[in-house]
Amino acid sequence: MSQPGPRIIGLPYDLHSSYLRGAADAPPVIRAALRSSAGNMWSEDLRDLGAEGVLTDAGDVDLSAGDAGERIEAGIASVLADNARPIALGGDHAVTYHVMRSVYVAHGPCTVLHVDAHPDLYEEFEGDRYSHACPFARVMEERLAARLVQVGIRAMTRHQREQADRYGVDVIDMRSWQSGMRPAISGPVYMSIDLDGIDPAHTPGVSHREPGGLTVRDVIGLVQGIEGTLLGADIVEFNPSQDVGGLTAHVAAKLVKEIAARMLSD
Ligand code: MN
Ligand code: MN
Repeated sequence: MSQPGPRIIGLPYDLHSSYLRGAADAPPVIRAALRSSAGNMWSEDLRDLGAEGVLTDAGDVDLSAGDAGERIEAGIASVLADNARPIALGGDHAVTYHVMRSVYVAHGPCTVLHVDAHPDLYEEFEGDRYSHACPFARVMEERLAARLVQVGIRAMTRHQREQADRYGVDVIDMRSWQSGMRPAISGPVYMSIDLDGIDPAHTPGVSHREPGGLTVRDVIGLVQGIEGTLLGADIVEFNPSQDVGGLTAHVAAKLVKEIAARMLSD
């Protein structure tokens, strides 16, 4: 293959969740939805992701022992060293900081497009600086991102608003969101999708349901509308124990396909 292809990597980790555990069970459930005979492996732009070698899978990183952050960083680094582009399946949002550290080592600071109900910019949350409520504070303080653009935000707090100002974060909150918006982003991009950024009517299988969110089509439009090179992505916070009829699993699988197709279109 002449272009580096997309590669799934599972990060079964939820020990930095602040409310419910369960996100660690997500990766195999997303894979099952992706391979389900209820659908096919074609993307909307007619790429056959089921063809041999097009969308590869590194399996799950073993996070059952040792330092999970170091193991995540090593797992992502090995995908990047193989000239592939990681599509990381969480796990809670705490994994993103570690994924981004390895993306930074390989590619330097890039633009981060972050879909979420929550800004995840807490300096610390309940005494944990590595909580799933904090990853983008760590990303910005370590200058792993050249720019952070947040979409879907509707659970801002005063502290996090101050953090957003401090780090120069572009927050496009739901009050000002209009369907079909595509923020102008150029250069290399990393995309982080917290499934609670989508309305819980579409993705009920999350730990923190926040009504009034994005549609699935809004997020697909963001993926398809990325103009720069998509270096890597994550889909996090799917909690299978909260899902209803597999709805959320199928949204996650759909996003894997469209992200993979976008990576292949560079
Ligand atoms: Mn969230
Ligand atoms: Mn989040």
